[in-house]
Amino acid sequence: MARNVDSVNLRGRTAVVTGAASGIGRACATALAEAGAKVRVLDLDADRAHEVAAAIGGEAHVVDLSEPQNVVHLAEGADVLVNNAGFQVVRPLEEFPPDQFRRMLAVMVEAPFQLIQAALPHMYAQGWGRIVNVSSVHGLRASAYKAGYVTAKHALEGLSKVAAVEGGPHGVTSNCVNPGYVRTPLVEKQIADQAAAHGIPEQEVIEQVLLARSAMKQLIEPEQVAGLVLYLCSPAAAFINGASLSMDGAWTAQ
Ligand code: NAD
Repeated sequence: MARNVDSVNLRGRTAVVTGAASGIGRACATALAEAGAKVRVLDLDADRAHEVAAAIGGEAHVVDLSEPQNVVHLAEGADVLVNNAGFQVVRPLEEFPPDQFRRMLAVMVEAPFQLIQAALPHMYAQGWGRIVNVSSVHGLRASAYKAGYVTAKHALEGLSKVAAVEGGPHGVTSNCVNPGYVRTPLVEKQIADQAAAHGIPEQEVIEQVLLARSAMKQLIEPEQVAGLVLYLCSPAAAFINGASLSMDGAWTAQ
């Protein structure tokens, strides 16, 4: 899929992508490597992290971001930081497991916070840095049964804006990208679960359950999100800072 990578030159740059072994993170790592960056692939999944790193000439780092203090050193020296790792738990509030809630905040808020903290000194010293936080429509809107995810993504939005305000004078931008449903293992699992739960075909789950609020009844491809992430690293995007860029088929426009 076309990503217009030709116009973005990241040769000599180091990019850190969390959750880069799968889905959106993998597509981002690939796009950044194609643009010339040396990519650090951070993920819990050792086999896939090594597979992706080998495919793109990057480095695999097998890490658990729910314990961010063990991981922060990996963001030192990064020119581009993509905070992407995340996961979903779907339960009504009164049954939502507190340990899962805490883990979601650790992986999707605390780890980005600590990685940004570790990345900033190098970015400030050179007067250039790009932080991209993979948020979601759920960083802007709520859905039932997603207390941990919606809370974490809203918090990530706040963190991203503070990084934008502090980083701007140093040439460092921080933005969120806010996809609707993207065709990745995270969503394919939800589709299969919902089809089984409702006793309806998977295509019906996509159109009538997941994308009920979208004006476009198709899943987004991970490469399309990666294209937006790459654009945020381009010279044309230098003044996009503190933004939340929706890619959701007009879901949040309604
Ligand atoms: P995915 O499940 O395909 O990939 C997520 C990756 O994160 C996996 O490789 C997983 O191993 C890694 N990961 C999870 N917990 C980790 C931990 N504790 N330490 C290290 N790595 C860990 O999911 P995806 O759909 O590509 O999602 C990537 C990001 O995009 C997430 O933040 C998600 O919230 C966001 N997002 C996804 C969608 C979608 O529809 N798929 C929509 C909006 C936002």
